[in-house]
Amino acid sequence: MSQLEIKDLHVSIEDKEILKGLSLTVKQGEIHAIMGPNGTGKSTLAYTLMGHPNYTVTSGEVLLDGENVLEMEPDERSRHGLFLAFQYPVAIPGVTVANFLRSAINARRRAENPEDKGMPIPEFRKMLKEKMDMLRMDHNFAGRYLNDGFSGGEKKRAEILQMATLKPRFAILDETDSGLDIDALRVVSEGVNALAGTELGVLVITHYQRLLNYIKPQFVHVMMDGRIVESGGPDLALHLEEHGYDWLREKTAEEAA
Ligand code: ADP
Ligand code: MG
Repeated sequence: MSQLEIKDLHVSIEDKEILKGLSLTVKQGEIHAIMGPNGTGKSTLAYTLMGHPNYTVTSGEVLLDGENVLEMEPDERSRHGLFLAFQYPVAIPGVTVANFLRSAINARRRAENPEDKGMPIPEFRKMLKEKMDMLRMDHNFAGRYLNDGFSGGEKKRAEILQMATLKPRFAILDETDSGLDIDALRVVSEGVNALAGTELGVLVITHYQRLLNYIKPQFVHVMMDGRIVESGGPDLALHLEEHGYDWLREKTAEEAA
């Protein structure tokens, strides 16, 4: 069983400590959600996992099946099976979704075996169709230019399709709900749920409880001031929706006192 382990992670931006000892383990097939008020470091966690240069890890570890993720370049992280929904190009005019996905798959295959000739086109087409059917996407989507004039929802669909074809072991999705209408939200969530049911571990980072009406996490964590202050099951998200974060602020203040 594959696992992504974050151990006592401390991260600074421009000498300001943002993550202050965050620990979390996600196993393949599990969906975890991190919730929390704005400014608590949720995106900092996502950027750190993707290897963004502005985020300095001052201590702690991130291990993927025991291998040190923090020493890997961003493309190596991806080859090792980490998928970060927002690390991909914004718009590539002239490159279709299908071309882009095929290049990505072939680049990965060549990284593993320099002799690799790439996935044969019929095999690729068949695989792409299967994935689009699973995600209930119109096949025409594959022929469109990547992100060129895509709505927010279509960009997310393209990302989810990319996730389905690259088959990462772990996906980190940050605030995937922003800018999505309810239909797109449903499609994206169904995609995540379908993929998670197989071999994917998912870490959904969100400010909005609304997303969790669609993506069904088994584990919910609350992050405040750079740490996870509470973990529970899906009922924790419902409790937060009803009661907000104040009770946790009080609780953590009492614990600190
Ligand atoms: P969240 O995603 O939970 O809203 P962020 O990780 O985006 O939180 O931000 C955490 C903290 O880091 C905030 O206090 C924010 O002001 C600060 N921060 C984020 N980006 C930068 C930056 N580039 N330079 C300095 N401070 C930053
Ligand atoms: Mg954020």
